[in-house]
Amino acid sequence: MSLQVDAFRGALEPFTPAYPWIVFGAGVLLGWRFHRLQPVLALLVLFAAERTLVAFGDAGASLADRAVTASVALLLPLDLAALAWHSERSLRAPAGRVTLGLLLAQPLAVALVRSPELAPLARALDAGRAGAQGLRGVVLTQPELLAFGAALALASARFALRQTLIQSGFLWALLAAFLAVGAGTGLAATVYLTTGGLVLVLALVETSHRLAYDDELTGLPGRRAFEDALLRLGGRYAIAMVDIDHFKRFNDEHGHDAGDQLLRMVGATLTRTEGGGRAFRYGGEEFAILFPGRSSTEALPHLEALRRAIEATSFTLRGRDRPRRKPKRPVATGPRRKLSVTVSIGVAESDGDEADPRAVVNAADRALYRAKGAGRNRVVCAA
Ligand code: GH3
Ligand code: MG
Ligand code: MG
Repeated sequence: MSLQVDAFRGALEPFTPAYPWIVFGAGVLLGWRFHRLQPVLALLVLFAAERTLVAFGDAGASLADRAVTASVALLLPLDLAALAWHSERSLRAPAGRVTLGLLLAQPLAVALVRSPELAPLARALDAGRAGAQGLRGVVLTQPELLAFGAALALASARFALRQTLIQSGFLWALLAAFLAVGAGTGLAATVYLTTGGLVLVLALVETSHRLAYDDELTGLPGRRAFEDALLRLGGRYAIAMVDIDHFKRFNDEHGHDAGDQLLRMVGATLTRTEGGGRAFRYGGEEFAILFPGRSSTEALPHLEALRRAIEATSFTLRGRDRPRRKPKRPVATGPRRKLSVTVSIGVAESDGDEADPRAVVNAADRALYRAKGAGRNRVVCAA
């Protein structure tokens, strides 16, 4: 087992010097491009820690070097927790400038720790290292453990409040930092910290992808994703266009917020499309459903099921006067308005080999307008 690990390590070792440069370089460029200061700063902090531990982090080094490692072990988790609590907006506000200043001061502070004048501080930072308890080879002093514990609590609380991919990336980065600092070799620091950075980079890529392709209101893939999916269609498929009936009237009567709620409800129903159908928000109150490999006839019963499900869903408006907390006893607020809507659907299919998906979309649109003309709340197949 240990032999295998050694062989594995031997095989990887020639590549490890390039690993951080590639991951952190690509990550910082990407974050810069997407105007994401928060992950960019986290990547720079991880990279700085990685470089420092590679230079000074091997166990058995001098007191000055061990004090540098201790400084990294104290500062890195707290930096990550502080960045996790920032938002893109707060980083650009005065609070962000303070954090930025503190981050920039750290390399200087760590360099000072190595100076002979500050040997007492170095000794204090290193105190307890020898007696520290190892956890599977991870050796940290009490203050270091405390720093990691506090950082983990802070980052977890932040994640509980804002469950984004980037926030979960911060938790992974903290774990990586813990392993890197505790392992006590420069090589381990490179592997762990760069992998922690890689998780953040992947979270950044996925977030940007969602931003570009998903509709924020309904969570469905949006127009861009639909156009993309059309390019990949071939052979036999059916496309359905779904439009909410009298939505303008609904908006006028109940307000735009209620309209948004309704769009979310319809979107949620459409995600449950069966028969291999995939729903997209096409724009406004229109949705599209792709059925790869199906004919209109095969898609029809699933569309009919959706139409009935939406018709049958009644929902209560979350009014502006609704109390934030649920009252102990129900308060009389007049009759609860139960609302429901209907949708009209048009569906068309490809005529086999070289059908242009755009033409199929247009045919489905024409069928949709026939459904509207015939009285709405129905599914019509293109002739
Ligand atoms: P029809 O049955 O013929 O489809 O009537 P309609 O009123 O649904 O059709 P129309 O195209 O005239 O109106 C669509 C309305 O959808 C216009 C706009 O007020 C509303 N709408 C579009 N996008 C949104 C949105 O994101 N949120 C809300 N609340 N309303 C939207
Ligand atoms: Mg419309
Ligand atoms: Mg409509």
